Amino acid sequence: MLPAPFEYHRPSSLDEAVQLLSSLDEAKVLAGGQSLIPLLKFRFAAPAHLIDVNRVPGLDGIKEDGGSLRIGALVRHNQMAGSDLISARYPTLAAAAPQIADPIVRNLGTVGGSLAHADPAGDWGSVMLALRGSVVLRSERGERELAISEFLQDTFTTALEPDEILTEVRVPQPAGPFGGTYLKLERKVGDFATVAAALHLSLSDGTIESAGIGLTAVASKNLQAEDAEASLAGAEPTEAAFAEAGRLAAEASSPVTDVRGSAEYKRHVVDVYVRRGLARALEMARAA
Ligand SMILES: Cc1cc2nc3c(=O)[nH]c(=O)nc-3n(C[C@H](O)[C@H](O)[C@H](O)COP(=O)(O)OP(=O)(O)OC[C@H]3O[C@@H](n4cnc5c(N)ncnc54)[C@H](O)[C@@H]3O)c2cc1C
Repeated sequence: MLPAPFEYHRPSSLDEAVQLLSSLDEAKVLAGGQSLIPLLKFRFAAPAHLIDVNRVPGLDGIKEDGGSLRIGALVRHNQMAGSDLISARYPTLAAAAPQIADPIVRNLGTVGGSLAHADPAGDWGSVMLALRGSVVLRSERGERELAISEFLQDTFTTALEPDEILTEVRVPQPAGPFGGTYLKLERKVGDFATVAAALHLSLSDGTIESAGIGLTAVASKNLQAEDAEASLAGAEPTEAAFAEAGRLAAEASSPVTDVRGSAEYKRHVVDVYVRRGLARALEMARAA
């Protein structure tokens, strides 16, 4: 099917993009188009205006600054997979990036677009929850930074106001010995997750200082397994502690039975992946 008619805008600066977004009714930002274009083609979305931000400079960098990793909203999934900084210092991000979709989608799809789309089966949301990430939102009214846990509200629903553009994702720079990973079960390469788990673990004097656990495709949005995280804070990193965290994470999940598997099976995978991911993160932290 062909998309409904729309007017196409291609701003060349962030100010211009923000101005267009605030002055036009029923306008949508177009980034990689990997989720929006199919929605237009199926006519699930029919915005009157598309604001293509791909030529806006300054939104495609990956750098550390002011205690945070700063990822521009237009950074492509593949850019994350190929970044030396990410592979050297951010193992959870590094593990997730090459598991997103297929090479074509990874070349075009953006980190910002993925978060703004807020698909509960999207991978970046869970990773950012585990890493305590935040997003920077810009409008003509100014700029605000929001924790990812507040930004992701429900299925395809975020705290973005209609006149706001997501410009940057921030992840606190890790300190001390830490490790992390992203484990994803998919039916075939390139598929969305049946279940996935993002793990981050930091140690202090051999005990667990903090743990971050984000879960994909097992709730109406990317899920932060808060009880599991709390059970680990200050605990000895033992198999029993990881088993309890796995149990709590599975208990917090509310997957649905579908073509990818039964709810019971998916909950079991959460349990296994959380335990397994924590063990892998611990190995990394001890080796650091
Ligand atoms: C075949 C296929 C397989 C896929 N598999 C996976 C997968 O395994 N895991 C996964 O996580 N994703 C997967 N995806 C989705 C993919 O990651 C998309 O890239 C992502 O969901 C959207 O990013 P985008 O840049 O393409 O955004 P777009 O499609 O351009 O936009 C998506 C939405 O976000 C809004 N938006 C985009 N950028 C901004 C911004 N800067 N500020 C405000 N709003 C914005 C748009 O208005 C739109 O509503 C898959 C997609 C396809 C087509």
